[in-house]
Amino acid sequence: MPTYELDGQVAIVTGGARGIGRAIALRLACEGAAVVVADLDEKGAGQVAEEIQAEGGQAMAMKVDVARRKDAEEMVRKAVARLGRVDILVNNAGIGAVGLLMEADEETWDKVMNVNAKGVLLCSQAAARQMIAQGAGGRIINNASSSGKIAPGKYVPQGVYAASKHAVVGLTKQLAMELAEYQILVNCVCPGIIDTHMWDMIDRESARLHGVPVGSVKARVVAGIPLGRIGQPEDVAKMVVFLASSDASYVTGQTFNVCGGKIPY
Ligand code: NAD
Repeated sequence: MPTYELDGQVAIVTGGARGIGRAIALRLACEGAAVVVADLDEKGAGQVAEEIQAEGGQAMAMKVDVARRKDAEEMVRKAVARLGRVDILVNNAGIGAVGLLMEADEETWDKVMNVNAKGVLLCSQAAARQMIAQGAGGRIINNASSSGKIAPGKYVPQGVYAASKHAVVGLTKQLAMELAEYQILVNCVCPGIIDTHMWDMIDRESARLHGVPVGSVKARVVAGIPLGRIGQPEDVAKMVVFLASSDASYVTGQTFNVCGGKIPY
């Protein structure tokens, strides 16, 4: 059921092949946007594009590694060639990593920072240059994490991941200031615990560290969520489409928690 009028707009969703990115792509399409589903997983991206087309929407799939400048630039170029413009970029692609910062190796640091932080920078630069050239403003919405605002600590240790997501929050604020004069609004969502493959991996790895059964770490963490349930990818998509819409036209440089009340600020 559409709530916002995004007809005629073109949106790129990175990491759109599954999980939160898939839900965002489907919801943007439901609101009338043409959607570029960009992911390392070409097959998954193609399936999401097909889902959108089957519902009468417009979509294209693209294999993209957000951590490579060439891919980011090509993504925008191909979107413009096929769909004419770029109005909305959702920087959603990201990878998880379970482990303490004190035990982090350089390989993990480089891999996670390259995708989660550098990828946001490269895709934002490429899309913002196109939006500036179009002269009609635009939206960049970054998917950070509650781990971009608070330290996850030692029970579910995500040291490097948390550092990368704090970088996304910082990137959001600075980019918002640099792009405000072009009416390109840059905001950030901070999901809590969302039911996807990523949290299944976090649960498995944390359970292994603590020597407890698979599923028990997730159950314990979910028990502490004030709204009493794990988040669904669609919960995040709802906030993203609001930020993409004209209803959010006076909002930039902000971070929005979608966490069932788990973090207070
Ligand atoms: P997921 O693992 O289910 O999906 C991530 C998608 O990103 C996959 O399709 C994957 O192929 C793609 N991807 C990974 N690296 C890529 C790259 N270099 N280039 C292009 N695509 C790439 O994860 P999810 O849970 O849906 O997470 C999506 C985003 O939300 C991530 O940025 C994640 O950090 C963030 N997030 C997730 C949660 C959660 O609880 N699941 C909480 C907070 C934030």
